[in-house]
Amino acid sequence: MAYKDPRRRRDYDKAYYEKNKAQLTEYQERYRATNRDSLLAKQRVRWHRNKDRYLPAVRAYYRRMRSDPEFRRKRTLERKRWRQGKGRELARASRKRTYLKEKSKVMEMLGGKRCVSCGATDLRALEINHKNGGGAKELKMQPRARFYTMILKGERSVQDLNVLCRPCNGIEYLERKYPNLKGAWSIRWVLSGASSSRSARAQPSSARHSWSGRGRWE
Ligand SMILES: [Zn+2]
Repeated sequence: MAYKDPRRRRDYDKAYYEKNKAQLTEYQERYRATNRDSLLAKQRVRWHRNKDRYLPAVRAYYRRMRSDPEFRRKRTLERKRWRQGKGRELARASRKRTYLKEKSKVMEMLGGKRCVSCGATDLRALEINHKNGGGAKELKMQPRARFYTMILKGERSVQDLNVLCRPCNGIEYLERKYPNLKGAWSIRWVLSGASSSRSARAQPSSARHSWSGRGRWE
């Protein structure tokens, strides 16, 4: 339906939007989620192409954040409300992405995303292990994110850390706690049928141990 009068066109569009708001928003959110990477790439291109035009406003914003405490307080509060309300799911997903990215980076620093004991490579099953124990204590003192940031910034040494999968980490813990039981447990990774494509990645090429049961770790 074409309107010659732009005002009528606008009114029609507005009414259409109001009527189908929920559906349109849902569609948009789904589209954004499924096309996240390509949208971000486009955004980056757009930013670099128009940098000169955008930068002054961005700089002015941060200058104001630094110099105007009232403005800063309001913006911080707004962001917090968004994070805890409307943007809850988005913020949670974003935190998770950051967490996995940092976990990967730390593991690369430690020699790769691979259990040093059995060779498992599924990131969901891998953990950063404190070779001499004390991991729980260290993580109790600070959030995990802070632990990762310190490592990535080089503020915390990685000498006493390595990468283990959860089962191997459990065994290491038990052997540290009960030294006389060293060698009493072993793990054998077995490819389980149902969710094979996912657990296949957990399957090490040369398994020394076997772990039957499906990995369900995030
Ligand atoms: Zn392992």
